[in-house]
Amino acid sequence: MKNTSDCTILSRWIDEANSVTTICHARPDGDAAGSSVAMESFLREMRGKDAACILPDDLPRTLGFLSEGHKVFRASRDMEAAQERIRRSDLLICLDFNTPGRTEKLEDCVRGFGGRKVVIDHHEDPEEGAFDLYFSDTQVSSTCELLYEVLCAMPDTGGLASGLPADCAAALMTGMTTDTNNFANSVFPGTLKMASELLEAGVDRDGIIRKLYRSERPNRLAAQGEMLSSLMKIEKEGYAVTVLTKDFFTRHGLLDGETEGFVNLPLSVEGVALSILAKEDGGVFRVSLRSEKGVSARLLAKRHFHGGGHEQAAGGRILVPEDAESPEAVEDYIRQTTARFLQEQDSAI
Ligand code: 5GP
Ligand code: MN
Repeated sequence: MKNTSDCTILSRWIDEANSVTTICHARPDGDAAGSSVAMESFLREMRGKDAACILPDDLPRTLGFLSEGHKVFRASRDMEAAQERIRRSDLLICLDFNTPGRTEKLEDCVRGFGGRKVVIDHHEDPEEGAFDLYFSDTQVSSTCELLYEVLCAMPDTGGLASGLPADCAAALMTGMTTDTNNFANSVFPGTLKMASELLEAGVDRDGIIRKLYRSERPNRLAAQGEMLSSLMKIEKEGYAVTVLTKDFFTRHGLLDGETEGFVNLPLSVEGVALSILAKEDGGVFRVSLRSEKGVSARLLAKRHFHGGGHEQAAGGRILVPEDAESPEAVEDYIRQTTARFLQEQDSAI
């Protein structure tokens, strides 16, 4: 849980800074972008700061609304401006990542930043020494939930959701919603309390749900159909493997992020406790993993896919030809490593 004295320190550091910048992980999801813009809104609207967000990559189409009305630097479009913004800030607030490496191309800039660095995050094992002040808690649904607690502990809000700027409150609700997959995973008592308080404070949850889940293009459904009917392979050991190639994305005319959530689908089948989905992206395959309690998606990602994450939702990558000889060999690589991993887990119990 957040520590009240740390909130007092953060509040003072904000007061002492002129320019404050937030940054989140590469390929931001709703929680990363939501927490970044929520913090920016608090800093600007409640503290009158020169505040801005750095987004390492563009947002998927259905999350685009999150950045509207906020001061955002998109590093993938202008890396120089993003780095310059970080360098001339007094305070850097790092959201939804536990190590600067997760910002990818901005890692050196984050590590080399000379001012105060704060992390607010819900992943395990935050890197020691990488930040000056830590708000780190895995017993929350999302970074948005943790940030909600931190902001409610600030003197400005009087502990009330209604004390937050409206766009800040909406962004927090959005990030919590996407990280829990709309209340399906990682829901803690505090998650429902936060949702209830934000709703009471006037957040338009119906509007958020419409933007998040009812604003897709038909392409996505067609792609999902092909995935479910012919690409998803369910293995007898109780896991599912899906490989989406470059050709699949081209054929369906998919945009970045348009396959978001596909990895969850195989888990709806009885007996499937682990879903692994790989997407071809340039020279690598990006891997998403989701699991039921009792199977560690995080460990599998760490051991075999150069990644990590949460126990039940993790990610990483497969390198070609270092890990799998060719794109065609990726599916077998996943099968072999996963079967071995599950056997080791079984024998460890
Ligand atoms: P997704 O499958 O939605 O891309 O990622 C799920 C979760 O896995 C993210 O919230 C993040 O915690 C983690 N994750 C994704 N990619 C990586 C990665 O390359 N490295 C690490 N350490 N974690 C990742
Ligand atoms: Mn998150």
